[in-house]
Amino acid sequence: MALHIIDEANRCLNCKKPMCQQGCPVHTPIPTVIQLFKENRLLEAGDMLFRNNPMSAVCSIVYNHEMQCAGHCIRGRKDMPAHFSSIENYISEMFLDRMEVTRPEKKDKKVAVIGCGPAGMTVAITLAQQGYPVTVFEWKGKIGGLLQYGIPEFRLPKSIRYHFPQRDTSATTPQSKKHQNLWHNLWHKNKRTPEILAISGVLVESGGLEPSTFRV
Ligand code: SF4
Repeated sequence: MALHIIDEANRCLNCKKPMCQQGCPVHTPIPTVIQLFKENRLLEAGDMLFRNNPMSAVCSIVYNHEMQCAGHCIRGRKDMPAHFSSIENYISEMFLDRMEVTRPEKKDKKVAVIGCGPAGMTVAITLAQQGYPVTVFEWKGKIGGLLQYGIPEFRLPKSIRYHFPQRDTSATTPQSKKHQNLWHNLWHKNKRTPEILAISGVLVESGGLEPSTFRV
C-alpha cells in the first residue's frame, strides 16, 4: 500500500460533524470509511463506498474535490486538507477487483435503462443489486457514455471503465438482436410492443455527448 495513502488517512481528525461529508454531493460517509481503512477492513470500506455510489472509483478521479470533500475539510482552514479522494481511489479500485457479484432474489418487475452513461450505469447497478431484471440500451458500441467517449485517457484511465462491464453490470441483460428491435420500436417508432408493455419502469439518460429530443 502506498505510504501517502496511509499518511492521508492518519491526517483525518475523525470529526464528529464531518464537513467533508456535508460538502460531498452524495454524502459519502468519509470518516467511517477512513476508520475502516485504518483498521485494515478494506473490503468493508469498499462495500460502503460502492453502495453509497457505484461510481466512487470514477468520482475519486474526475470530480472537483477542491470544491467538495477537500474544500470542506476542517484541516484546510489552517493547513492542507485531508485528501480523501486518494484514499477513496485506492479503496474503490481494490474493491472493484475483488468484489463478489451477488444475485438477490429476482423481482417480477422489469426495468429498461436507455442510455448507459454514468447515471444509467448507476441506476442499472443499484436496481440489479435489489433484484430487478435490468436491460440496458446503449446506441454506442460500449457502455460508459461520457466516461468512455468524453473523458480522455490521461484524465480517466480506461482500466477503471473496464471494471464495469466485467463486474457491476453482469446482472443486466446483454444486448441482442431482440433487444435492438425492442430499442428501435421504443425509441424510434414510439411503438408499444408486448415486450415493451412488460417493462415496468424506464429510465432515459439522454446523455451529454449529443443533445437529443425525447420521442417517448
Ligand atoms: S473534515 Fe477532514 S479531518 Fe474532518 S472527518 Fe472530514 S476529512 Fe477528516
